[in-house]
This record gives sequence, C-alpha cells and structure tokens, in this order.
Amino acid sequence: MLVDCIFCKIISGQLPSAMLYADEHISAFRDIQPQAKVHVLIVPNRHLVSLNDVEEQDGTLLGKMLQVAVQIARDEGIAETGYRVVTNSGRDAQQSVDHLHFHVLGGNPLYPRLG
Ligand code: 5GP
Ligand code: ZN
Repeated sequence: MLVDCIFCKIISGQLPSAMLYADEHISAFRDIQPQAKVHVLIVPNRHLVSLNDVEEQDGTLLGKMLQVAVQIARDEGIAETGYRVVTNSGRDAQQSVDHLHFHVLGGNPLYPRLG
C-alpha cells in the first residue's frame, strides 16, 4: 500500500468507490469519470505502477485480471455487444494514476478505432 496513492486508498476502503469485485489480489470499481456507458477499472491490490513493474511471477495475477475483465463485461451485459480492455503506461500514453489498472470500456461504439 502506497500512502499517497488514490487506488491504494480505494482498495483499502479509505476512499469510497462503486466496487464491483474484490478478492485477495484484485479489485474492480467504476471509473469516477466514465468515458463510455460502462467504464470499470481492474487493479491489482498490490501497488504496481504500470506494466513496467510486472515481473515473471506476476503472470497469474495478470491472467486473473483479464478473467475479471471478461466477468465484468458479462455482468454488465456488454460481452456480446463489445468492449475494450486498455491500460495506459507512462507519459505518452497519458497514464494519470500511477497504480496499474485495466480499463474495461463498452456499452456504446468506441472511437477512435484502435490497432
Ligand atoms: P489513466 O488515465 O491513468 O489511464 O486512468 C486513470 C483513471 O482513473 C481515469 O479514467 C480517471 O477517471 C480514474 N480516476 C481518477 N481518480 C479516481 C477516483 O478517485 N475514483 C475512481 N473510481 N476513478 C478515478
Ligand atoms: Zn497504489
């Protein structure tokens, strides 16, 4: 837990959030400023800054984060209509919170087309 990290505070319950999922390793809560009808953030409970902090032994954690993303998409009813899972790493990607997170976005057409 990093004392000055917003997401660490949300995970530990010090700050409120619309929490959709939480287990020992992973939490998922609604983004405070949604960029789509459905906008959920999936985070590791352990403070990792970005993908750059991920080590070989974190493979299971990342796989589980993606499984949670799919489960959230199903629960939110967007698994069939479509969704994006995005993570911004560093300045050029405009990462604004330095605690690793996957955005799950959907519920309406997403622009621009990426990839
Ligand atoms: P990034 O720009 O780092 O990829 O994404 C950070 C996301 O965190 C943004 O979409 C922003 O709206 C969201 N966010 C920032 N502060 C809070 C907060 O206090 N609570 C919640 N639920 N989301 C936040
Ligand atoms: Zn943190």
